[in-house]
Amino acid sequence: PIHLVWFRNDLRIHDNLALAAACRNSKARVLALFIATPGQWRLHNMAPRQAWFIQQHVDMLQASLAAKGIPLRVLAAHDFAACAGVIKTYCADNDVDALFYNYQYELNERRRDAAVEKALGDKVLCQGFDDSVLLAPGSITTGNHAMYKVFTPFSKAFLHRLREETPMRLPAPQARESGAVKAPAHCRFDYPQQEVDAQLFPVGEMAALYRLRQFCRHAAKDYLAQRDFPALNGTSLLSAYLTVGVLSPRQCLHGLLAEHPGALEGDSGAVWLNQLIWREFYRHLLTYNPALCCHRSFIDWTEKVKWRNNAKALRAWQEGYTGYPIIDAAMRQLNATGWMHNRLRMVAASFLVKDLLIDWREGERYFISRLVDGDLAANNGGWQWSASTGTDASPWFRIFNPTTQGLRFDAQGDFIRYWVPELNVVPGKAVHEPWRWAEKNGYRLDYPRPIVEHKQARAAALAAYQAARKNK
Ligand code: FAD
Repeated sequence: PIHLVWFRNDLRIHDNLALAAACRNSKARVLALFIATPGQWRLHNMAPRQAWFIQQHVDMLQASLAAKGIPLRVLAAHDFAACAGVIKTYCADNDVDALFYNYQYELNERRRDAAVEKALGDKVLCQGFDDSVLLAPGSITTGNHAMYKVFTPFSKAFLHRLREETPMRLPAPQARESGAVKAPAHCRFDYPQQEVDAQLFPVGEMAALYRLRQFCRHAAKDYLAQRDFPALNGTSLLSAYLTVGVLSPRQCLHGLLAEHPGALEGDSGAVWLNQLIWREFYRHLLTYNPALCCHRSFIDWTEKVKWRNNAKALRAWQEGYTGYPIIDAAMRQLNATGWMHNRLRMVAASFLVKDLLIDWREGERYFISRLVDGDLAANNGGWQWSASTGTDASPWFRIFNPTTQGLRFDAQGDFIRYWVPELNVVPGKAVHEPWRWAEKNGYRLDYPRPIVEHKQARAAALAAYQAARKNK
């Protein structure tokens, strides 16, 4: 038989459920396919850095699969709608008997897959796998078989299930009996690409596994104490690999358990595991609430908040010139690297929504257009949390004070001075309110004054949310 593996956001050979299933029958001839969809990527605002990261891993995958005797063809279709035709032709030309793929849970992706299965009809047997999650959406539900709306009980039920049946990690498939093949010619995607700093996210499955091992061995124990301080590098920096599927969450779980065997029982390592469960929570949530893929708020009344249309303020936020040093450092980190520290994602998001009163969807879109780890479920979840429009979100009346957040999480301003070098002259904690320091010392800083006054902005936000709630 001839088996085809369709790679999407699962660009690895280790612990890849679809690939492993396709290879199980040693007599089968195994082919592989990746379809670039530049038109769709444009529609989804995919960051050029993420496109580059995917391109690198598709190229590497071609080489590692070729060594196993599996040729990976890279084809192009304008968008998801065009995929069904491309696959149908490929299957007919190559006498494919069965198609193997790993599920994606976003709405457009699911529609695409349904169309592909329909186009292939009963000529090609299709098999999908829940590969990008530890536990399949739908497997963790409340007593009434509904999806949890609150994270804590979800995570409790999730951990309980993980302890009962810890999902296994699969090895890379054996080389096919027919031996290695020549890798097909590389194909460059017709999409803007921007290189990712190799220090931040070195390319390759081996690099990701190495980073996972180092993190679990040396840093996971200090995660709770360090994770909120952007100057410290206390987090794993694995998000980009998880997003494009160079690494699986099962590999993360087993990597953690190898060093912290009590993590499932709440011992050391449990806090990091909890972050992996947040990732699952948002994926499960999006599967059950496809409206989240269509720019809808989870909480209906928040659709009535009257957002401000302020292109100038939006641009100042995007470019890192708001006059609030922690916000500007965060946005410049994002623009320069394609990644932003989690604490800062929360603070920068809150600032856009609650201080500038700009629609959270503007922020969601901007983040996706810049992040190398951009992921619809996590990004939408994070934005709706910050904007208080989501399930189990930060309450609408809780508004971060950007100056205090800077003082708490970057007390001496090391992170700020790294990303906002204009503030190098400002000493110590004074860096959080540089205009005060400049006035006192008669210094002219090449840095803007705050574009809004936090106290007033806070009052305006409270009023806007209050008004929306009243006529809910
Ligand atoms: P670690 O702290 O080491 O966590 C390990 C892994 O757990 C991460 O790699 C990630 O896969 C997952 N994770 C951690 N925190 C969260 C969370 N709050 N929600 C979902 N998954 C989480 N994460 C993305 O992967 N893609 C996004 O597009 C994204 N957008 C965000 C937007 C906003 C407004 C906010 C507040 C958060 C967003 N996050 C997103 C979540 C989080 O900020 C990143 O996952 C994290 O900063 C990645 O760094 P790390 O790999 O060092 O994380």
